[in-house]
Amino acid sequence: MRGMRTSENERLFHAARALLPGGVSSPVRAFGSVGGTPRFLVKGRGSRVWDADGNEYVDYVGSWGPLILGHAHPEVVRAVQETAAQGLSFGAPHPLEVALAEAVRRVYPVLERLRFVNSGTEATMSALRVARGFTGRDHVLKFRGNYHGHADGLLVEAGSGALTFGRPSSAGVPEAYAGLTLVGSYNDPEALEAVFAHHGENIAAVIFEPVVGNAGVIPPKPEFLAALRRLTREYGALLIADEVMTGFRLAPGGATERYGLEPDLVTLGKILGGGLPAAAYGGRAEVMAQVAPEGPVYQAGTLSGNPLAMAAGLATLQALEREPGIYDRLEAYGARLQAGLAEVLTAAGVPHTINRVGSMLTVFFTEGPVGGFEAASKTDTAAFRRFFHALLEGGVYWPPSAYEAAFVSAAHGDEDLERTLAAARRAFA
Ligand SMILES: *Cc1c(COP(=O)(O)O)cnc(C)c1O
Repeated sequence: MRGMRTSENERLFHAARALLPGGVSSPVRAFGSVGGTPRFLVKGRGSRVWDADGNEYVDYVGSWGPLILGHAHPEVVRAVQETAAQGLSFGAPHPLEVALAEAVRRVYPVLERLRFVNSGTEATMSALRVARGFTGRDHVLKFRGNYHGHADGLLVEAGSGALTFGRPSSAGVPEAYAGLTLVGSYNDPEALEAVFAHHGENIAAVIFEPVVGNAGVIPPKPEFLAALRRLTREYGALLIADEVMTGFRLAPGGATERYGLEPDLVTLGKILGGGLPAAAYGGRAEVMAQVAPEGPVYQAGTLSGNPLAMAAGLATLQALEREPGIYDRLEAYGARLQAGLAEVLTAAGVPHTINRVGSMLTVFFTEGPVGGFEAASKTDTAAFRRFFHALLEGGVYWPPSAYEAAFVSAAHGDEDLERTLAAARRAFA
């Protein structure tokens, strides 16, 4: 497929750049770190997507996680169409909110009560507000390389020194605001112990990705997960599992089920909306009783609980519930993809480490092992660029950043795997 036609993508990108910052509605879509022309995707079916020039790709982005069933799953599309025909939004309670909340609870018993919102960003931002309201404390702790959306207090990186408060990682975030966020080191129970020894009494909540997906895939160490739960309990802080990416993906009940976690609050998104904007935060009933109108913590949304998003999410969760074998298929395809890519890269003599948890996978171009953010940041981004463009030219749409997870869907199969490995082979031939 070398020399694929991209003139329409180029024309659109040119027009888009005049109107939208970077030509996009979310930064990574602009191909900034890999170069080249972003593809305007106009159609998807199962594991495949098509761009504005008509090129077809095997898709490993899956809209950045939501599309665990693949594109345009017939039941999800039908649910949205039927719901849309009755009206798009009411700003009043809707039966589908109850149905989706029940479906969530069946697989996430820890979400005794929950609130629907429109994005993962809103879910984490609101969960932290609730934690602060509940504990009466101001500080929160997050980990370097974990992403929780773009709320001000979460666009924060580590300051100098091991135990300092965070500083803004984006322009426009006030120092004073970032200073309420402590930044810890993921997978490091001793460092966590030290943070709590210094600041434990002031920490309202610890928010973490139970499997990191946003620095590339980094699995959690069991002793880190145990220390998180032990220390938060000891110091009276809430533990917030940010499962926006992992929820419903790593198991029906996400990482909470897979690792037997006992978080106080969980944030969900991505798969929860089945491809439409829906997210949620929830957890212990007494904590969620803080949320307005029952409690004093304000949080609202014009389109929250939107019927179309509820319908898409419910149809997705129902399909997963009806066919639990999907998780075995995701695991099997993920394992074959990992083994196949490892074989190609080994044969080509390219240093690599492939981290995978279920259907989330990252190829790090470094010897590894990659067990934390420091190791992940050693990935050879030039090698990644070469890999990415060879895949793209070969009809495979891989996430356009070295620090993202590739997602497998239930629709991926043998032909997809063959095409992917053939393109990877050409990358380093
Ligand atoms: C995607 C993501 C978010 C942000 O969700 P948006 O819907 O993009 O705002 C938050 N946390 C995690 C772990 C995510 O993967």
